[in-house]
Amino acid sequence: MKVEGICKLCNINKKLEESHITPKFISRWIKKTSATGRLRGLGNPNIPFQDGKKQYLLCSDCEDKFSKYETWFANNFFHPSISGVKITYEYNEMLFKFVASLFWRSLVVNIDRKVYDESSFKQQMINCEIELRQFLNKEIFPTDFNEMYIGMTSFIVNAPKEIRGANFFFTRMIDTQVLFTDKVSYFYCLIPYFIFVGNIAGIESNNFPNSKVNPIGGKFLTTQMTLKDPNVSSFITKRLLDIENTNISDAQNKIIEDMILSNIEKYSNSQSFIAHFLDNTSL
Ligand SMILES: [Zn+2]
Repeated sequence: MKVEGICKLCNINKKLEESHITPKFISRWIKKTSATGRLRGLGNPNIPFQDGKKQYLLCSDCEDKFSKYETWFANNFFHPSISGVKITYEYNEMLFKFVASLFWRSLVVNIDRKVYDESSFKQQMINCEIELRQFLNKEIFPTDFNEMYIGMTSFIVNAPKEIRGANFFFTRMIDTQVLFTDKVSYFYCLIPYFIFVGNIAGIESNNFPNSKVNPIGGKFLTTQMTLKDPNVSSFITKRLLDIENTNISDAQNKIIEDMILSNIEKYSNSQSFIAHFLDNTSL
């Protein structure tokens, strides 16, 4: 079904497509590889499962533009990482555009929500949406909001019982958010085996060694990519504990946060693939 309206990206009144907030190829892959052939949530109301959620957001020209970025990412990062151990990922400007398109979509669908009025970073969120829109629409480079990072995740071998949902979370879920605390604000998007972070305010680049997405392209070595940002790891830990409805001590919390961080670094650990196989057979 199509409806007439203003495209959020190019601002032209056109027929709008029902756009996916998160890329179609991911929900397609989750469905295809699940035993039930359906997208599943965790059954916990605290965890909004954002599957192939759709909205009338873009015209078909803009939708086609985003599809090109998605296809590029699916072919060059997503499918190769699922089918085997790959150490080196070379990329071009498409990766930055793909992450920027995820980042922008998350901002544009969420920014009017009341919760963001409480943030001291609301103005930066608005400015960030504008810059990313101009970039995606007219290739005007985002001068203030161009720090984006990519991390790779895997199965956690022997996950402690407090975070039994971890393997499901890192390999079967789509979770995208615009987050803020009193010190930082950032975009976060988790898809199977990958995590993306975009700085809105206060996120420090040196917490993401060898993981920054270069706008013109570059190379990632999975053995060197690290993501040690305390904001991101404590958010993911909280998410995992919510899945299990667990209350734990600060000390346990710290142990789990460290485990999350090392999971995001240890993609090339071959043991993960044994767990991958074992875990997949039980899904
Ligand atoms: Zn458009």
